[in-house]
Amino acid sequence: MLAGCRRVLPAALGRALRGRAAAGGSGGRRAVSTSWCPVGAAFDVKQQRGSAAGRETGLFGVPELSCPEGFQEAQDKALQESEQLVQKACSTPPGPEIVMIFDQLSDALCRVADLADFVKIAHPDFAFREAAEEACRNIGTMVEKLNTDVELCQSLRQLLADEVVMDSLDPETRRVAELFMFDFEISGIHLDEEKRKKAVNLNIKILDLCNEFLTGTHLPNKIDKHVLPEHIRYNFTAEGNYLQVAGLHADCPDDLVREAAYKIFLYPNAEQLSCLEELLASRNSLAQLVGYNTFAHRALQGTMAKNPETVTQFLEKLSDQLSQRTQKDFEMMTKMKVKLNPQNSKLMPWDHPYYSSVLRAERYNIDPGLYCPFFSLGACMEGLNSLFSQLLGISLYAEQTQRGEVWSEDIRKLAVVHENEGLLGYIYCDFFQRPNKPHQDCHFTVRGGRLRENGEYQLPVVVLMLSLPHSTRSAPTLLSPGMMENLFHEMGHAMHSMLGRTRYQHVTGTRCPTDFAEVPSILMEYFANDYRVVNQFARHYKTGQPLPKSMVSRLCESKKVCAAADMQLQVFYAVLDQIYHGKHPLKRSTTEILKETQEKFYGLPYVPNTAWQLRFSHLVGYGAKYYSYLMSRAVASMVWKQCFAQDPFDRAMGERYRREMLAHGGGKEPILMVQGMLQKSPSIEDFVDALVSDLDQDFETFIMDS
Ligand SMILES: [Zn+2]
Repeated sequence: MLAGCRRVLPAALGRALRGRAAAGGSGGRRAVSTSWCPVGAAFDVKQQRGSAAGRETGLFGVPELSCPEGFQEAQDKALQESEQLVQKACSTPPGPEIVMIFDQLSDALCRVADLADFVKIAHPDFAFREAAEEACRNIGTMVEKLNTDVELCQSLRQLLADEVVMDSLDPETRRVAELFMFDFEISGIHLDEEKRKKAVNLNIKILDLCNEFLTGTHLPNKIDKHVLPEHIRYNFTAEGNYLQVAGLHADCPDDLVREAAYKIFLYPNAEQLSCLEELLASRNSLAQLVGYNTFAHRALQGTMAKNPETVTQFLEKLSDQLSQRTQKDFEMMTKMKVKLNPQNSKLMPWDHPYYSSVLRAERYNIDPGLYCPFFSLGACMEGLNSLFSQLLGISLYAEQTQRGEVWSEDIRKLAVVHENEGLLGYIYCDFFQRPNKPHQDCHFTVRGGRLRENGEYQLPVVVLMLSLPHSTRSAPTLLSPGMMENLFHEMGHAMHSMLGRTRYQHVTGTRCPTDFAEVPSILMEYFANDYRVVNQFARHYKTGQPLPKSMVSRLCESKKVCAAADMQLQVFYAVLDQIYHGKHPLKRSTTEILKETQEKFYGLPYVPNTAWQLRFSHLVGYGAKYYSYLMSRAVASMVWKQCFAQDPFDRAMGERYRREMLAHGGGKEPILMVQGMLQKSPSIEDFVDALVSDLDQDFETFIMDS
């Protein structure tokens, strides 16, 4: 997943080795640093931390950030710089320079805000987290001020209005200018005084409602313990005469526990319900105020799908194609339920995740413990290194960090080095569990790439966060197949950041439309599931034996069990998100819409007195873009099948992939990037077919198993 890509300024409005590669003299612009070592060893061997590793510095090498107080200093510098840039923007005549100044302004604020955004959630030291939080708040206030700065906006508007100058700009510059303007517009800057005030107030109200709704999605529901049969009460946290139900207990083998949890956890809370209704209505008002039909129309501008009509078409077609397969999956689950529990034969929504995992286990019996020894973290990192080097001419090296540069001893810093172009950027790997660390696999942009005024390229810096177990005395860190796939996924985001060579940081790497952002990461999952790729690195950490091909095949096939039903569920969520953010006032209550949509796009019955939508936290962050993941997956699937399935190490395809897709970050319309890669313009049907054909059993494996 991608950390809440905040686009600052105006933008953000939105809240928005093996082998010593170049050592042989391959003509790299930069020589390999002596402090670089092979990436695999850096993860499997306990790194000796030289205490005298150079001078003292601050977090990410920012000198001020050697102590929490440094955030104040960094923030003050950024604010000062931004004020100067605002003046400069306002006194510069229309031309490409305006876009550059805006990007510098955005960069000055992002450099601190993005870094602080990461530190405030991940730093083990409370004082650092607090200082970072404060910096975020202050920069946020500045951003709000800039977003409503009429004079600043005017300088951009003049540029956009000047057709001659606009026509002379390169496409990336034009797009970035438009993106900056788009972010201004949502604050209603183009409106008259009264409407602008209204927009500002709506923005504030929406932010508050979002926070309130998010908090509400996690709150447990309480119930008098006597309502539940005594033998299942122990599953829930007791609080005097009450039981707390804090989740769906979806994996619990006891049908009754899951049923109880479902009905209690999803029991509608009146406050949360009105919060949601108000949120949806306010979003709609804001969108209309600034000139859109619906919130979805606004949210989808600039995306791959472009508009809600296309999204709806995509989801409806996908649902049609899935429905028969989904029915079959539900029948299999029902049979299993009857087999285990004959008196209770109707498949209910609380059964789906549980019985699909039972079926998967029965059919394939994948024991992660049998796979882990083949996936030491070091081996996986070497695998990635080898893949990137064959495909893209890129090597990963572990670089010694300086004192104060990282927030925990176990962080590894990787230098990403191209065989001809030299150093491309840095990935900080925050891979290991530690107390209070958020449990989330995630990619964070800490610094965006951009072409500086002096002609040098500002190298991108990112953090990858995972929650892997530490190595032990007797074994290195061993990954389950799921963790390995996640590692590949997150490295896909990181490579997008490293290879995006945009002129502007506003569109660096993963700062691209949401429905395109997951393409590079999901594509990496296809590589992670291909035997030819896995076979390059999966070796038993004790014996050195390779992972047998049959084990990889079984793993891949096991993922297809009930996959149609799982995808159908995602379609249902995505449709719901579209309707909620579509035409207002809504025709029915959100719960009635849920019921109707569930019946039409999912198939398992709605349960009276439940309101799942009140737990749908993604409505906040994704608002009208929950479909993005499915669409990104469709594109990744097409790219895989057409470009890499035949030969996952095809260098020519790797170069095309870099040139057509990764290099542009968000600086090019996403559908044009897809067309460049596939060398054709895919239809909605192609998107749907790609997703559905992935569900088919692999014939070879099927025969082998029968
Ligand atoms: Zn992702």
